[in-house]
Amino acid sequence: MIPFLDLKKINLRHEDEIINSVKRVLQSGWFILGQEVTQFEEEFAAYCGTKYAVGVANGLDALELIIRGYDIGPGDEVIVPSNTYIASILSVSANGATPVLVEPDLLTYNIDPAKIEASITPKTKAILVVHLYGQVCNMEKIHSISRKHNLKIIEDCAQSHGAMYKNARSGNLGDAAAFSFYPGKNLGALGDAGAVTTNDPILYETIRALRNYGSHKKYENLYKGYNSRLDEIQAPILRNKLKYLDADNQKRRDIAGYYLKKITNPHVMLPHVEAEASSHVWHVFVIRTAHREAFIDYMTQQGVQTMIHYPIPPHKQEAYKEWESRQYPISEKIHSEVVSLPISPVMEQVHVMRVVEVVNEFRPL
Ligand SMILES: *Cc1c(COP(=O)(O)O)cnc(C)c1O
Repeated sequence: MIPFLDLKKINLRHEDEIINSVKRVLQSGWFILGQEVTQFEEEFAAYCGTKYAVGVANGLDALELIIRGYDIGPGDEVIVPSNTYIASILSVSANGATPVLVEPDLLTYNIDPAKIEASITPKTKAILVVHLYGQVCNMEKIHSISRKHNLKIIEDCAQSHGAMYKNARSGNLGDAAAFSFYPGKNLGALGDAGAVTTNDPILYETIRALRNYGSHKKYENLYKGYNSRLDEIQAPILRNKLKYLDADNQKRRDIAGYYLKKITNPHVMLPHVEAEASSHVWHVFVIRTAHREAFIDYMTQQGVQTMIHYPIPPHKQEAYKEWESRQYPISEKIHSEVVSLPISPVMEQVHVMRVVEVVNEFRPL
């Protein structure tokens, strides 16, 4: 079987460094918010080009803390794409604010800037953009809308570590950004982890307090905060892996380039790469086909593991049953047709070639 993503192989490349990191933390005797977290925060902020980074427990918390940090809550609205991983939307709901879904562009799968303004009301406080699958949104258009309506831009960078827009990295393209280091992401920990990046000194101080019981000084609490800290033991693992992120993303780009050039099956629609998104980081390589079930069965029979990102749109989830009668036809079409092919920095070239061969031989009945 050609695996969709071999996490064991990805991490075993760094076995010695990881073991040494864990030993370092073990011998330091300091397990919460120590030197390793501080150094990772500095290095990750420098990588993204932002003034600040704050390590938190996971990507959902990173989003939730940004929204809380900007005081967005009950009675406020936040624009979110209708086709994202549900965590983006949950972060708005968790703060008691209302997510307002806006349809994506059918080519890029990212929020369609032309559809945002019609959904803005006097209650709108922010646009939460998701750089889905590793490709950055059209930030120029989104910035001009946010300026006009005085809205915050919050980036969900859980799939776009290292992606660039013009000369800036994702994470430095709005007011604040949330990263997930869930093991399967482009930069992954050995467990849950996340970060917020920003250039806003007030938000930075607020989130540093919020992640630690709302405390800015031991036993003094400014806010009714959370316990959402990046584990000290994950920080050196992330510091090590950050050194390889650009090279890993380049490997993903090479595989994606090969797929884009060699897959020629008319039943398979390839992803569209925006000219401005100068560096897509291919968190996943998503194709569309009108014959999805047959395609997946066929791929499995041929020994290729595939995944669906994602099978059910957020407005069709039981968790949001208040939205069940709403219609988001573009999102529904995407959710019914997408399939993700194997891609990762450790994928062997023979496997890449085999995937192309198998995909090209697919014929719907
Ligand atoms: C993975 C992911 C998240 C959530 O990150 P966790 O660390 O799992 O909480 C949020 N948004 C998107 C788009 C994701 O892919």
